[in-house]
Amino acid sequence: MIRQLIYILAVIPALIVTGCSSTPVDEEVNLYTARKEHLIRPLIDIFEKDTGIKVNIVSAKTKVLIKKIIDEGETSPADLLITVDAGNLHKAKLKDITQKIESEKLNALVPQHLRDKGGHWYALSIRSRVIMYNPETIDPEDIKNYESLMASSLKGRVCIRSSSNIYNQSLLASLIYHKGEKAALEWAKGVVNNFSRPPKGNDRGQMTAVVLGECDVTLANTYYLGKWISSKKDTEKMYAKKIKVLFPNQDNRGSHINISGGFITKNAKNKNNAIKLLEFLADDKAQEIYAKQNHEYPIRKNINISDIVRSWGYPFKMDMMNLTNLGVLNDDAGKIFDIATWK
Ligand code: FE
Repeated sequence: MIRQLIYILAVIPALIVTGCSSTPVDEEVNLYTARKEHLIRPLIDIFEKDTGIKVNIVSAKTKVLIKKIIDEGETSPADLLITVDAGNLHKAKLKDITQKIESEKLNALVPQHLRDKGGHWYALSIRSRVIMYNPETIDPEDIKNYESLMASSLKGRVCIRSSSNIYNQSLLASLIYHKGEKAALEWAKGVVNNFSRPPKGNDRGQMTAVVLGECDVTLANTYYLGKWISSKKDTEKMYAKKIKVLFPNQDNRGSHINISGGFITKNAKNKNNAIKLLEFLADDKAQEIYAKQNHEYPIRKNINISDIVRSWGYPFKMDMMNLTNLGVLNDDAGKIFDIATWK
């Protein structure tokens, strides 16, 4: 009798759930995103309207979301994760929380060097890590390459954020890829030797230090200057006028680029909808809005960019290395930073 009762109690809720699953309400996709919700919300609204698929968003920092997916295991509701930096996307793949995506559309929309060699993640926007400098104290002719930052003329004049930052790790990984470990170590040591102060703060902190005369040259991602130029804050607008962008290595391999991108989780329950969302974000309509929203670059040259971003010079020569290598060489980059005592 008790057994029968337990059986009934267990089966009834299951039947109710199954009964609901055939209704359109189930057309949904669960997006974990490390990008600010205001950046993707306008696109999600269009996607939901176009497809009838509801997107449930969970926002947090990359590390938190990746840990969450690991902890949730097979029961994780996450279908896809969107974050920044190929280094982060590759780390997620190594943690075995991603899966290979089969989509001819994505393969056509996302250039080969901007996606995982194994098909586990795809880029959705591009940013470049460029040299920013004080035009009153620096001659741009003297800082034409990343390698210029180790010149003895810049002793005590360079500020750059910590080596624990993934953007710097990926940049160093690109140097390892192109020039080998020995040259990369020499570069890191040379830059450390030119530091105006021990690394502290984020990209905007370095840019502020240039503006305030605490150093003359730094490395920062392009969109941070875009944010200053379009800012409602007077200080930021004023700061933006006192700093200039230089795209390094235009006469050789091109400026280092990185991406925002996404992957489908290993245990995705709404895999097809998740692929549809990635395809939508990579397509023309979303690309223009997405890139402009954060002053980034679209993944294809046929898409419009913001006037602010265009004012720095576009198109510029981008480093065309496959960005999978930024992830593959991330550990080596960390070791080199340690040997060079780049904190
Ligand atoms: Fe950033």
